[in-house]
Amino acid sequence: LLEVRDLVKTFGTGEAATRVLRGLSLRLETGEMAALLGPSGSGKSTLLTILGTLMKPTSGRHVMLGEDLIAADDRALTEFRNAHIGFVFQFHNLLPDFTALENVIFPTAVREGRETAPARARGRDLLARMGLAERINFPATSLSGGQKQRVAVARALMNSPELVLADEPTGNLDRVSAMQVMELITQINQEEGTTFLISTHDDKIASLCRRQIVVGDGMVTG
Ligand code: ATP
Ligand code: MG
Repeated sequence: LLEVRDLVKTFGTGEAATRVLRGLSLRLETGEMAALLGPSGSGKSTLLTILGTLMKPTSGRHVMLGEDLIAADDRALTEFRNAHIGFVFQFHNLLPDFTALENVIFPTAVREGRETAPARARGRDLLARMGLAERINFPATSLSGGQKQRVAVARALMNSPELVLADEPTGNLDRVSAMQVMELITQINQEEGTTFLISTHDDKIASLCRRQIVVGDGMVTG
């Protein structure tokens, strides 16, 4: 599905420069479900941001679905990202006054300039699969932390992305809600072949993934 080679990412210049990624290489095959582990500050979020095409590396190669994403301009990257990549963050970033369903379909509606019936149907279906059929029309503020995070997962899946990048998606949840979110992710991975890369500090969460990728010193160490 994707490959990065010799990724270097440096923040700042001169004396103040921080070299976060120092020649990191990684391949992800379609259908993988991988955990991204490593100490705080090791560059997990930086790597996810680059893989998500939200930021370019200082140097290195980045190819996904046969496209050279280093050569691509901003417009091409936005288009690529919208078509192929979904994101889940630690803090769900839901729009508080919007309902669960509106939150799921909003990004798609904005992009397409209108809210279509198929989009609503897909949003409903995803929320039902997340166990939220009864909560579809509830405002985001009225949902529990675990429920909000499941809405965020549904939102990430809205455009049927090949790759979902999740940065500590369960970092803010209790054990039960975290397990529930992981179970749903596992189910989507198995049923739809969606590739997931999930950063976490939690070994229990990581053990639910078939592969563990450890980052340290700006490289993959295991
Ligand atoms: P955590 O487990 O705490 O989330 P992480 O592995 O996700 O950590 P990153 O957030 O990728 O780590 O940060 C890696 C390093 O890069 C840190 O030293 C951080 O201060 C630095 N860094 C990240 N983003 C920037 C930025 N925009 N400008 C400057 N430095 C940055
Ligand atoms: Mg991080």
